[in-house]
Amino acid sequence: TVKTRFAPSPTGYLHIGGVRTALYSWAFAKHHDGEFLLRIEDTDTARSTAESVQIILDGMNWVGLSPDNADNIVYQSKNLSRYKDLIQKLLETGHAYPCYCSVEELAEMREKAEREGTATYDRRWRPETGKKLPEPPVGVQPVIRFKNPMDGVTVWQDLVKGEIRIPNAALDDLIIARADGSPTYNFCVVADDYDMGITHVIRGDDHVNNTPKQINIFKALGVESPQYAHLPMILNEAGKKISKRSGDTVAITEFDALGVLPEAMLNYLARLGWAHGDDEFFTMKQFVKWFDLKDVSPSASRMDGKKLLWINGEHIKAMPNGDLAELVKARLPFALSGSPDLAAVVALVKDRAQDLNALAAECAYFYQKSVPNETDVAKHWDADAPARMRRFAERLAALDGWTAENIHALFAPFCADEGIKMGKLGMPLRLAVCGTAKTPSVDAVLALIGRDEVLRRLAEV
Ligand code: GLU
Repeated sequence: TVKTRFAPSPTGYLHIGGVRTALYSWAFAKHHDGEFLLRIEDTDTARSTAESVQIILDGMNWVGLSPDNADNIVYQSKNLSRYKDLIQKLLETGHAYPCYCSVEELAEMREKAEREGTATYDRRWRPETGKKLPEPPVGVQPVIRFKNPMDGVTVWQDLVKGEIRIPNAALDDLIIARADGSPTYNFCVVADDYDMGITHVIRGDDHVNNTPKQINIFKALGVESPQYAHLPMILNEAGKKISKRSGDTVAITEFDALGVLPEAMLNYLARLGWAHGDDEFFTMKQFVKWFDLKDVSPSASRMDGKKLLWINGEHIKAMPNGDLAELVKARLPFALSGSPDLAAVVALVKDRAQDLNALAAECAYFYQKSVPNETDVAKHWDADAPARMRRFAERLAALDGWTAENIHALFAPFCADEGIKMGKLGMPLRLAVCGTAKTPSVDAVLALIGRDEVLRRLAEV
C-alpha cells in the first residue's frame, strides 16, 4: 500500500507551503487508499519546543488534515537509539567510517575545494583497500561519515520533475553522526522513511539536493528507496520566495485570522500548482478523486490573494447556515443575545462577503446599529430624512403581519404619497435602521431585525 508522510520541523509556525505539501501527500495517499503519516522532525532541541510542536498539530487540525497515525505520531527525538543502531550497522558493513579531522583541517579542505572546484571533504579517513589511514589522534571523538559511492550516477524518476541524474563524484562523504554521537538530518530522514515504510516522499524542492544522498544511504542499508516527488516553491504575489520578512502571510494561523475557511484554504492550495481542467471550486473529496502527481506543475506558483478570497466566498456560500453562524458568532464584536436568529441573518448576507470577518461585519448591524460613514450620510441623508423616517415608522407600526412581503407592499404607496422615488426612501431607511447604506434588500433586513427594534432605531433619528 501507498504510504506518504508529512515531516515538518517545528519552527514556531506552520508554513503555508508546508500545508500544501501535507495536502498533496495526504491526497496522494487517499487517492491510492493508502496511509498518510505525520512525523515531527524535532532533533534540533533548541527550536523544537513543546509549544512549536503544538503549533504544527493545531495547524494540521485546523485545516482538517488528520494523519492516519494521529495516535502514534513519529517524533525523531524519540528515535535516537534506533538511529545509533543503524549507524552501527553501516559501520559494520563498511558503509560508514570514523573521521578524525579537526575543524582547522576541514577549513583548509573547504578552501582548497573552493579553489579547485572539487568535493569538499578530501576523504582523508575513508578506508580503501591498500590505503594506509593516519593514526587516530588520542582523545578525539570522531564523526561518522557515510561512504558515498565515488563513481556512477544516482538517478531517480522524480514524479514531478522527471528524471534527475547526479554524478556520485559530486557528493561528499556526508557526516551521519556528529562527534557527540548525535545523528544528522539526512540520516534520520532515511532511517525514518525506512522504518515507517514510506513508499512516496512528497516534499518541497528545497530538498532535491538531499535526495541523491538519501538514496545512496538506502542502498547501503540494503533496502529499496521510496519514490520521490519534489514540489516547486510557492512565491508571493511579487514573484519572490514567500517569507515572513517581506511581510507575506505565511503562517496558516494568519489565514484563520483573516477569516479564511479551512476548506477554502485547502481548495486554494490544491489549485496552487495543480490543475484539473478548469475546475476552481471543489471539495476535498473531489480533489482526492482527481489528484495525480503528474498534474502537478514543475514550475513555481504564485500566491493570488484575490483568488483565495473568491474561493473563500464560494465556500462561504456553500456552507450550511447553521455551521456558518457558529463561525461568525466568534467574530462578532459583541456577545450574541436573543433575536434575530444568526443563521437566518447569515443566510441573507452570506453572498456579500468573501471572508468571515467581513461576514461578521455584515451581520453585526442586525443586532446593533453601526455608526454611519460620512459619505453615506452626505449622499443619502438630507434635511427631509428625519421627518420622513418618522412618517414611515408610523406605517410600519400599523402594519398587519411583520413579513418582508408586507413591508415591501408599504413602499410604493408611501413614495407616491411623499412624491419621491424609491431611492429616497430605501437609502435613508437603511441608514436610519442599520447605520449603513450597504445592505441586502431593505424589506428583508427589516423583517429579520424585528418590529420593536426597527421602531426603536427609527425613533432615534
Ligand atoms: N523536515 C523537513 C522540512 O521541514 C522535511 C523533510 C522531508 O520531507 O524529507 O522541510
